[in-house]
Amino acid sequence: MSQQLLYGDLRRDGSRGCLGDSLAKLRSYLHRPPVRVQLQLEAISSADLETIGKIRDGRSLPELTSSIVDLLCEKYGYGRSILLCHREHFFAKLALRDAPHALWGARNGWVAYVYGTSHDEAVWHEVLHLLGAEDCYDTSDPAQNPGPTCDLDDCIMQYAPTPANIRDWPFVCAGNIRRIRAPG
Ligand SMILES: [Zn+2]
Ligand SMILES: [Zn+2]
Repeated sequence: MSQQLLYGDLRRDGSRGCLGDSLAKLRSYLHRPPVRVQLQLEAISSADLETIGKIRDGRSLPELTSSIVDLLCEKYGYGRSILLCHREHFFAKLALRDAPHALWGARNGWVAYVYGTSHDEAVWHEVLHLLGAEDCYDTSDPAQNPGPTCDLDDCIMQYAPTPANIRDWPFVCAGNIRRIRAPG
């Protein structure tokens, strides 16, 4: 089974560079048991990132996502993507307005937005959403009940995963392994 993913870092202050490495690490994990999914990574070109970063026509996160997906589909033939940006960026502000508890990132349709941090666990959590995984925490009150609510105490789909609460691979619970292997 193979899945395609586009990626791009919208930050322009020298903090670019680690997203590709982070995703390559996840790709090598996903290749292994118990998941065994092939992740094909493709970088969004600098010119396209420039265009995407300037999109301001969304009044809501779904509208923004649909503009981004349209552009990506036209250029790359598919729209599933992860975008890294600063918390001050328009995309992050729109995401935080729609989901104030989404401190580090949010997934909307085919696009995952990560902001405020670029650590591996935050990036991987959002990518796994794009591959079909669901949250393992109380989404109505994540600050009080951060999870994990599944059978794995270091599941990456808990709220705010960090190097402190996620150990070695496999850090995905059985339910989410099933969802990733057979995406709806
Ligand atoms: Zn999540
Ligand atoms: Zn879980």
